Amino acid sequence: MTTEFSPLRLDVNGFAAEAATLIGADPVNDYPRLVAELTDPAAEVQVHWQAQGEERAGASGAAVPWVHLSVDAVVPLVCQRCLTPVETPLVVDRWFRFVADEATAEAEDDESEEDLLVVARDFNLKGLVEDELIMEIPVTPVHDTCPVQVQLSAADADFDSVEGGKPNPFAVLDALRTRKPE
Ligand SMILES: [Zn+2]
Repeated sequence: MTTEFSPLRLDVNGFAAEAATLIGADPVNDYPRLVAELTDPAAEVQVHWQAQGEERAGASGAAVPWVHLSVDAVVPLVCQRCLTPVETPLVVDRWFRFVADEATAEAEDDESEEDLLVVARDFNLKGLVEDELIMEIPVTPVHDTCPVQVQLSAADADFDSVEGGKPNPFAVLDALRTRKPE
């Protein structure tokens, strides 16, 4: 008998005990906190994810639930050099070990290479997918080669109107640094 597992209310122990797999391909709009970090147009972006449960013997010999999560999505961010959209791949590939409670997670976090989460019968796997994607967003996304000429001068009258917002000062600095001598 195979149990149906829900990615929104996941029975973590059961999922691990059955070594079950969940696979999803969701529109990015299912992940509003992620969408808030993106530039337009993001509506057609798909988030592909896969979770695999596994039970391993813990220190005391008791079974411990682990979940491997892999996620990928290509999302539009704002290039910090030229301030136009840059398609940026976000990739997650990580193991999580589930512990009994928050106190255990805090106590064991420093000595653990894997990430620790608190076990639940209604764990929000999609919330984890979203958290992990947001953490993968680079601080300064840039094109390998910018498609437009980089604005270099803060004295340029059009500067403040680029993309309707204020340019990131680090982007300006970066652009100055990477300017090749002619
Ligand atoms: Zn660029």
